[in-house]
Amino acid sequence: MQSGNIGVKTENIFPVIKKFLYSDQEIFLREIISNAVDASQKLKALAASGEFKGELGDLTIKVEVDKQKKTITVRDRGIGMTAEEVDRYINQIAFSGAEEFIAKFKTKTEAESANIIGHFGLGFYSAFMVASKVALITKSCKEEGTNGVIWECDGSPEYTMNEIPKGDRGTDVILYVTEGDEEFLEESRIRELLNKYCKFLPVPIQFGTKKVQEPIEDVIEDAEVVGDDATEEKKEEKKEPKTREVEKPWIINDVAPLWKKAPSEIKDEEYDEFYHVLYPMNFGDPLFHIHLNVDYPFDLTGILYFPKVKNRYEFQRNKIQLYCNQVFVTDSVEGILPEFLSLLHGVIDSPDIPLNVSRSFLQSDQSVKKISTYITKKVAEKLEELFKKDREAYEKNWDDIRVFIEYGMISDPKFYERAEKFFLFKDTEGKYYTIEEYKELIKEKQTNKDKNLVYLYATDADDQYTNIENAKSRGYNVLMMDGILDSHFISAYEQKEGEKNEGRTQFARVDSAPTDKLIVTEEKEEESKLDDKQKDAIKAEFEKVIDKMRFNVEFSNENETDAPVEITQNEWMRRMKEMEQLNGGMSFYGSMPDSYTLMLNANNPVIAGLMDKSEEERTTTIQQIYDLAQLSKNLLKGKELSEFVKRNMEKL
Ligand code: ADP
Repeated sequence: MQSGNIGVKTENIFPVIKKFLYSDQEIFLREIISNAVDASQKLKALAASGEFKGELGDLTIKVEVDKQKKTITVRDRGIGMTAEEVDRYINQIAFSGAEEFIAKFKTKTEAESANIIGHFGLGFYSAFMVASKVALITKSCKEEGTNGVIWECDGSPEYTMNEIPKGDRGTDVILYVTEGDEEFLEESRIRELLNKYCKFLPVPIQFGTKKVQEPIEDVIEDAEVVGDDATEEKKEEKKEPKTREVEKPWIINDVAPLWKKAPSEIKDEEYDEFYHVLYPMNFGDPLFHIHLNVDYPFDLTGILYFPKVKNRYEFQRNKIQLYCNQVFVTDSVEGILPEFLSLLHGVIDSPDIPLNVSRSFLQSDQSVKKISTYITKKVAEKLEELFKKDREAYEKNWDDIRVFIEYGMISDPKFYERAEKFFLFKDTEGKYYTIEEYKELIKEKQTNKDKNLVYLYATDADDQYTNIENAKSRGYNVLMMDGILDSHFISAYEQKEGEKNEGRTQFARVDSAPTDKLIVTEEKEEESKLDDKQKDAIKAEFEKVIDKMRFNVEFSNENETDAPVEITQNEWMRRMKEMEQLNGGMSFYGSMPDSYTLMLNANNPVIAGLMDKSEEERTTTIQQIYDLAQLSKNLLKGKELSEFVKRNMEKL
């Protein structure tokens, strides 16, 4: 018999562990089971190298709960420990770990202290978060035929160690659950924890049993003589496989999850199926996946899925699960992965991701940072590959993945550079162009007098229909920019292009100016039928009728035959407002109503002749022009619309 003190000199470690780990109490099960998995994997490795010559047999790890005795037991058939090893790994290891821990925890926050425990290899001691006493019964694989060792500790630094008869090699860890923590004796709670942390561990883990239907051989059929007159139906009935319900050990994990397999051996359906295993509540299939499978410069595997997102409210952030050798670490990846990747779904597994509980630790971890940069690069490479390999398929997916790529480009300059090769513009005809292709396409017609390249775009194909058609009739190309992030993207794009090229790059919505003013290629003297005085008079007349909060009046000098009026919206003002709204702000522009310009064509006879009319006629005409202009932009609503319709009905 041996007894002694666990190597903690200064203070009792257990209250410290309890206090600081309390918020993440549930990780105890992960820690104990990962140790059992490690021990089993080590044995496999020894067997593979020939150092262990005995039978490996079934290495299933068993988790058992005894409600009467109030115990949770984790049994493995791994390498086990000799008495000397228990002393070294359980009694001594706590020494260095605990000393350092106690020195550090005084200056750290709770979350950080919790990490330190994991970091110093105190995983085993996390058992004391839920147990008032822990027993470890073990027998080394090197000591067949001898007794095993039982180590017991009641949460004080004193422990006892004794010999105990044990037939099989391996380790049983028995937790005597603390009063008040009985929730961990509930089957449902344990199942929940196993599901969360252990679902993809590489060694089978059994918890309880499961009723399954098992086919039984039909012995009767052969014996029974089936008469000639037996109906077809009867024969069919006989051939139906008979099943019976049997209790089978319930293995809770998938030891070879999809991300560990070679991509070449996986069918597309399997990727979709696996997505639904990861997210049972997400019904739709993902758009596509990226299988990460690298061993240099990191050991990194994983599958990232691009989910199908219809609108901004459907984004599910923080769905990516991080694993360390198939042990679940966390799924709150905020600050760990680049933001735009946090919009993707899937799993990332690397031994370099520390088995830690707090994000602040992971966020500051250097290898995690490297991994995250590396993943961004890989995602970009894969997208480029998809684009090059099958552009048609890529274009089909483009509308759905666009938002992820734009987000990446906006938030990550490195990704922006990479994405320039596979970002696509889409025009109002539904054609797709790379950035290079598009610049080439519009270079000739859409460079203005200041050598700026003007990209024309629409945000609503219906509302801006006339403007789009007008622009196209001038030989311009119009882009469709109706995505969630398009307005942000436009600003980022203008800036980047501006840095790279001599002339500026500017985007103008098709209704931001009269069509002829969208791209001014040369300064020309404009002829107007009205002088400034006349224009002022007309403007004053309009202002008596219009809503001055929303509309201002300006004049253009277009052809006689062009429309008398057009509603335009200043590009810059509109964007300021949109930006502030997107950012959720109700600041200056954000709180203002949409503002429009009533652009009057001074050369159109209706406008030019306004002042020649009687006052009554003039007012009616202005009202009609104003209403029709609004109607053309879908801006005439409510009472105004009703009055407009009534007035025009009366004329029938
Ligand atoms: P860590 O796992 O981080 O090294 P732990 O405190 O969890 O720290 O465990 C300390 C050591 O105890 C392990 O490294 C291992 O050598 C030994 N150990 C723990 N559990 C088992 C087990 N089930 N079988 C064999 N050895 C174990």
